[in-house]
Amino acid sequence: MKVLVINCGSSSLKYQLIETDTEAVLVSGLCERIGIDGRLVYKPANGEKRIFDDPLPDHKVGVSNVIAALTNPEYGVIKDLSEIEAVGHRVLHCGEAFKESVLINDEVINIIEGVTEFGPLHIPANLIGIRACRALMPDVPQVAVFDTSFHMTMPKKAYVYAIPYKYYEEYRVRRYGFHGTSHSYVSKRCIELAGLDKDNSKVIVCHLGNGASVTAVLNGKSVDTSMGLSPLEGLVMGTRSGDIDPACLEFIAKKEGFTLPEMVNVLNKKSGVFGVSGVSSDFRDLDAAAKEGNERAILAREMFCYRVAKYVGAYAAAMNGVDAIAFTAGVGENDGKVRKMICDYFGYLGVKVDDEKNAIRGEEVMISTADSKVKVLAIPTNEELAIAQETVALVK
Ligand code: AMP
Repeated sequence: MKVLVINCGSSSLKYQLIETDTEAVLVSGLCERIGIDGRLVYKPANGEKRIFDDPLPDHKVGVSNVIAALTNPEYGVIKDLSEIEAVGHRVLHCGEAFKESVLINDEVINIIEGVTEFGPLHIPANLIGIRACRALMPDVPQVAVFDTSFHMTMPKKAYVYAIPYKYYEEYRVRRYGFHGTSHSYVSKRCIELAGLDKDNSKVIVCHLGNGASVTAVLNGKSVDTSMGLSPLEGLVMGTRSGDIDPACLEFIAKKEGFTLPEMVNVLNKKSGVFGVSGVSSDFRDLDAAAKEGNERAILAREMFCYRVAKYVGAYAAAMNGVDAIAFTAGVGENDGKVRKMICDYFGYLGVKVDDEKNAIRGEEVMISTADSKVKVLAIPTNEELAIAQETVALVK
């Protein structure tokens, strides 16, 4: 089945056309600088990459230009739109409405619109993508795959915050968790690759990219995750602080004369390994700076690894053990040094890393030794394929 996967961000639109029977990506690409000027990147699997600089005033024009490229007689990969059998949309949030992906109808759109305040930058963009695709392909089923829904299996003790309960009841303030498609996909692959019995498995997935989160997956279901109401909680990230004493907000705001939104902006955009190192949010830059002896770059990386190790320890406690730990996303898939620094904390779990295997980048690989008590794997995430697979499951 040919599935178009659409991922609309605040000023970008990523897309892939996937043949799900073979898992082949026929075309991938993105629209960038939407609302600024516009740039469409189009990469067919069997052809040359093309870049178009036509203006992209909004996501709707982005979607229609993507479709025009896909069906172009010269370089398109399909003859006409009827070859697209379904569209899968990555959607940031569904509040507590759905535990799984859903077929999109007017009611689903209303529900997504109703949780806009949980993702004021992403949700309007997600909805524009959905509406544009529905208008251009009214007869093609559209599916919403939510970043949060994988975590809807968390028990209440994991998702309720210890603040007056009425804020949960009245405003639905709680832990939602994010990166759900990635945690779902990687935990499934981890169970397969580690040869575990899904119904009797304890897996911890560390999604370590620019945004980063850890999830405890018990018997295939998320039972706790480090991100919360928003993707700001939890790990130290590229530019996000993760966990911090909330009292710091008032303290620093008073000193610097910041408003609350300005403080939250500092925590989202100016913190994390970038804020600590003063060098970069990118681990390749941190590594280069660390090699030159930059102490703050070294500290930032140590803090990042220490926080991951603390979460893994907490989730091993929450599940009363762990069978396998999986690393994924930009840092988790590629940075063997960071993986090793994290695993060095896991002596008490009986984790042993095979240094040769740990040097492998960007591939599915078991990085633990044969006699390691807990299996440790690096598994490239594939959110687009996961979205396409969820879409097919619902459409069929
Ligand atoms: P993501 O958000 O999953 O796309 O991850 C992006 C981040 O992955 C970048 O900011 C880098 O910090 C990190 N990254 C990507 N490639 C490498 C690499 N080869 N070595 C170390 N870190 C990498």
